[in-house]
Amino acid sequence: MSTKVAVVTGSNKGIGLAIVRALCKQFDGDVYITARDVGRGEEAVKTLNSEGLKPKFHQLDINDLNSIKTAAAFFKGKYDGVDILINNAGTAFKASDPTPFGVQAEVILTTNFFGTRDMSTHFLPMIRAGGRVVNISSMLSVTGLKQCSPELQQRFRSEDITEDELVGLMRRFLDDAKKGEHKQHGWPDMAYSVSKIGVTVLSMIHARRLSKERPNDGILVNACCPGWVRTDLAAPGAPKSPDEGAITPVYLALLPPGAKEPQGKYLSDKEVQPW
Ligand code: NDP
Repeated sequence: MSTKVAVVTGSNKGIGLAIVRALCKQFDGDVYITARDVGRGEEAVKTLNSEGLKPKFHQLDINDLNSIKTAAAFFKGKYDGVDILINNAGTAFKASDPTPFGVQAEVILTTNFFGTRDMSTHFLPMIRAGGRVVNISSMLSVTGLKQCSPELQQRFRSEDITEDELVGLMRRFLDDAKKGEHKQHGWPDMAYSVSKIGVTVLSMIHARRLSKERPNDGILVNACCPGWVRTDLAAPGAPKSPDEGAITPVYLALLPPGAKEPQGKYLSDKEVQPW
């Protein structure tokens, strides 16, 4: 049987690194730290080596299409696909950051939504039968959804929203944000929440699509919140350690062979949450 492989984006630190640590212990296959910066990625490999773990490394910047394509070709060539993909890479601004809202929105959506979508475009077609895709969203996607206009909420909750429609809505938010008109057009006043609404809904769309197009392959796609975790992105006072933040993503990544659910859901603390 060929070697299985797990790929975690943005895993040189924080929750991503903790996910790789847990997978190295629990997953019977090769586990890849990926990072946009090779030096930071190699340091992370050394950190886990010092704990007796043996992750592998590949460069991967989810904002760089060439980097995504190069990595996808590498995994296709070496493993003929990927068994576990965890789209973890993400970014945010501190509440006190004075960068204008429209600029923040562009930076945040470029990575959290459009980068994650580009990863999916190039990696989903080569997820192997029985594969697991986990997209790291946030509880702020749920908060943000409730702050959207009734029309937007209806679209984000609908079962017939397409990827093209979702992309169009995310672009519309960006246009509105840049003009300072997002609130009057029914959007929440937090770009991070909107980016994670995009991640949650994208996961649901991909799950429906894979169930339809590859019904016998048993691939499960879900979104989750890791909880509020002490990382550079969040706050030193957050209640969870990165290893605790990794628990739900790793649970979803290691759903046993033959599992039919959860599929296309949003989870936190290993439980499906209402959307
Ligand atoms: P960190 O800031 O500690 O880690 C973020 C990781 O993403 C880093 O490795 C960073 O790399 C990487 N990254 C950012 N942009 C890119 C890119 N373009 N390509 C590849 N990698 C990139 O944050 P967390 O560990 O907290 O966040 C991980 C995920 O969890 C994110 O999606 C975040 O939104 C989500 N999340 C976090 C919560 C928390 O409380 N911490 C709560 C809910 C969700 P680099 O070192 O090069 O910057």
